[in-house]
Amino acid sequence: MRLPVTPRCSSKLLLADSILQHSNFIPHPFLFAMLPSKGYAAQSATAPIAPFDFDRRDPGPHDVHLEISHCGVCHTDIHLSRNEWGGSIYPMVPGHEIIGTVKQAGSAVTKFAPGDRVGVGCFVDSCRTCSNCSEGLEQYCENHFTATYNSLARDGGAPNYGGYSNQIVVDERFVLKVSSKLDPAASAPLLCAGITTYSPLRYWKVGPDQKVGVVGLGGLGHMALKFAHSFGAHVVCFTTSTGKIADAKRLGADEVVLSSSPDQMAAAAGTFDFILDTVSASHDLAAYLDLLKRDGVLCLVGVPPETAAVHAHNLIMGRKKIAGSLVGGLPETQEMLDYCAEHGITSDVEVIPIAQINEAYNRMLRSDVKYRFVIDMATL
Ligand code: NAP
Ligand code: ZN
Ligand code: ZN
Repeated sequence: MRLPVTPRCSSKLLLADSILQHSNFIPHPFLFAMLPSKGYAAQSATAPIAPFDFDRRDPGPHDVHLEISHCGVCHTDIHLSRNEWGGSIYPMVPGHEIIGTVKQAGSAVTKFAPGDRVGVGCFVDSCRTCSNCSEGLEQYCENHFTATYNSLARDGGAPNYGGYSNQIVVDERFVLKVSSKLDPAASAPLLCAGITTYSPLRYWKVGPDQKVGVVGLGGLGHMALKFAHSFGAHVVCFTTSTGKIADAKRLGADEVVLSSSPDQMAAAAGTFDFILDTVSASHDLAAYLDLLKRDGVLCLVGVPPETAAVHAHNLIMGRKKIAGSLVGGLPETQEMLDYCAEHGITSDVEVIPIAQINEAYNRMLRSDVKYRFVIDMATL
C-alpha cells in the first residue's frame, strides 16, 4: 500500500507509516523482554528536552546492541521535537547521528563483534525488498523507511527512540562501520550531515571545473564545503552571518558571498553549475535560481517548515532545475564513512553535556553553531 504523502523526510509520512503499522499490529516476542534505557526526550512540542527512562527491545539474533558514546544534534531534531512539520510522536527521544561501541552482537550477526566502533544514521529499518531497497537506496524505500526516532517499529508498533540515550539495539543491516582512525565525537555528524551532503554532491557529479554553491553554514553546510572542496570543485559559500566568513574559507570555500548583500548576489548571477541549499528556515529560492548557469541545478536538502514559492520564469529562463535529496542509502553511507577515514574528514564540533541540549537548540536557531553540537553521552 502506497501512502499519498509527498515530502519523504516529513514526519507526516512517518506518522502515516506508523498508523499503517498499527493496523497490522502483531506482538513482537522481544516486546516482552526489555532493556531498561535512559535518555532525554521531548514530551510535547513546547516542552524542553528532559530526562526520560524507557525500555528498548532485547537484542535478537540479527541485532547489534551498542553503547552510545556520542550523538550529533541535527536541525531535524528541532523541527521534529517542536512539531514544525506536523505529526510528531511523543515522548520523542531525538538523535540520528549516533556513534557507539558494540556491546553485544546477536548469534546471527556476521559483520560486527563486541568492541567495534559503529554508527547508526537516520533509519533503522526498511522493507528491504522494494526496488529502491534492492538498489541500496533505503532512504527512498517504497514502503517507507523506519526512522531512527519519531516512528514505530516495523514489526511490533513500539515507538523507536533515538540517539540522545545511553544505548540502542539495531538490526546489523542498518549499522555502519566507523573507522577507529576517526575521532568518535567528530564523526557522529557524518551519519546525517555528512551523508546528506555527500550524496547529492556525488549524484550530480560535482568535481573539478564546476562552480558549486553551498547555502547556509551550519551542520550540513560545513560538511558540504568540506566534501565539495575535497571533490575538486570551485566552492562558494553563501551565508547570512558575517562572523562565519573566515571559517567558511578554512572549511573549503574559495569564495564567500553574504547573501544579505544585493551587490554580492548580483555579481554571482548566472555563474553556478550546482547549488546545494541547506537552509533550515524560509528564504527566497528565486535568488539562488538566478545564480545558476543554463541547465544548472538547485538542490534542496534543508527543509524549512514553510512551502517555498517559485515562479516558472525562474526556471524556464535557462532550463534550470530544482531538485531535492534525502540523506543516503546504506552502501553510500558506508562509502562516505570510508572516504572520510581515507581523507581525514570529520565535522567541526562543539561537544556538550546532554544537560545543555535546550541551550544548543536555541543557539542553532540563532545560527550560532560552529558547526555541529555533539552530545557526550557519558554525561547522561
Ligand atoms: P543548522 O546547523 O541549524 O544550519 C542551518 C543554517 O542555515 C544556519 O546556520 C544558517 O547559516 C542558515 N540559516 C538559518 N536561518 C536562516 C534564514 N532565515 N535565512 C537564511 N539562512 C538561514 O541546520 P542543519 O542541521 O545543517 O540542517 C539544515 C536543514 O537541513 C534543516 O531544515 C534540516 O531539517 C534539514 N536536513 C535535511 C536532511 C535531508 O536528508 N534532506 C538531512 C538532515 C537535515 P548562515 O549562518 O551561514 O546563514
Ligand atoms: Zn539529521
Ligand atoms: Zn523498500
